[in-house]
Amino acid sequence: MSSKTINISEFFKLGKKLFPICRSLTGNGNRKTLRILKKKIFNLKKIEIPSGKKIFDWTVPPEWNIRSAYVEDENQNKIIDFNKSNLHLVNYSIPISKNIFFKDLLKKLYFLKNQPNYIPYITSYYKRDWGFCVSYNYFKKLKKKYKYSSKFKVRINSTLNNKGSLSIGEALIKGKSKKEIFISTYMCHPSICNDNLSGILLTSMLYNYFKKKKNYYSIRFVFVPEIIGSICYLNKRLKILKKNFIAGYNLTCVGDTRAYSFLPSKNENSLTNKVAYKIFKENKISYKKYKYLDFRSDEGNYNSSGIDLEVATFCRSKYAEYKEYHTSGDNFNVLKKKGLKGSFNIMRKIIDDIMQTERPKCTVICEPQLGKRGLHPLIGTKESKKEVKKYINFLQYADGTNDIKKISEILEIGTKECLRIYKKLYQNKLIKISK
Ligand code: ZN
Repeated sequence: MSSKTINISEFFKLGKKLFPICRSLTGNGNRKTLRILKKKIFNLKKIEIPSGKKIFDWTVPPEWNIRSAYVEDENQNKIIDFNKSNLHLVNYSIPISKNIFFKDLLKKLYFLKNQPNYIPYITSYYKRDWGFCVSYNYFKKLKKKYKYSSKFKVRINSTLNNKGSLSIGEALIKGKSKKEIFISTYMCHPSICNDNLSGILLTSMLYNYFKKKKNYYSIRFVFVPEIIGSICYLNKRLKILKKNFIAGYNLTCVGDTRAYSFLPSKNENSLTNKVAYKIFKENKISYKKYKYLDFRSDEGNYNSSGIDLEVATFCRSKYAEYKEYHTSGDNFNVLKKKGLKGSFNIMRKIIDDIMQTERPKCTVICEPQLGKRGLHPLIGTKESKKEVKKYINFLQYADGTNDIKKISEILEIGTKECLRIYKKLYQNKLIKISK
């Protein structure tokens, strides 16, 4: 598979630029990310949803911004410093300025005993709290060095603004048809590579690839903070999504070089799933298939009852399932050009297949009356009944999600024969093609 039309190095460079930014559910880090992305995605629009706004069952949180955060010992040594890694601070920490004893500081430190070299990524979005994250090895060092009675200065220069907002990025490539392919990714994680800087990069690459092409369908790209962001976006664009959506993918953890994963949309027979399975199969790509109920990201909102957008999640190592997940270990040792390139090639093929493949759709509800169209013989013989059954069978699967090859497989007739039936039905206006 080739990816000649896209310069992976250029997007990898973009990744290096975006990596250090402290992103979150809200705040200037997300806006800065969108500003940088706009240089690659020219028609990227920023949507701001005000803090405090009720969205379905949720309320948009106050906007969080962070300038600096550190813990200093009595000799003015900064023993933990947000400036060194934004993972050191619990994301959404409230502002703090106080002096505390070591024994109390210990209660506010997070670490991973079983992964002693990594700083964990911890958030406290909806509980007003604060804390610092360190590697377990470093934690042990601190315990050795200080006494319970040692004094520390804790400073967290953060703000939580009730008059702030939550930022979302949206870009539409208009195709010949208003019907849309939907691509969603989340941008709320700070300096973590595979989850989900990689999703941001792949989405940008796909935008740039399809922007240069003449497309039959439109493609909608969105960058949201995970969960609350997709809820806000759905609230804002539900009507148009419901009207135009034909298939959709949530892109996350797509930059490592391990096996691919696919978490299907809720309805196994969706176009979203069928095309992905087809591309994996045609390109002989092995992947781990999850169940829809393994969802934990935005796909859960897109597929939820009442929303019913058949969005699947495409990953390499699935979120929550690889060892560096949500730690400082998820860095550029995990995110690789090769990994990103592989994901790009598959997603590009999936979108291209949706664009280019004809998928017949029956134009009538229930079984059509074939007699009045001259498709049902006046005198039924064994042979003519067989022919009629082929028409009826074909129409059963002409739902806009199966291509001719797939229908011929299901009907257990050859592609040539299937094409003959298709033409006959098309001439009689019993099917239209999906594009
Ligand atoms: Zn995550």
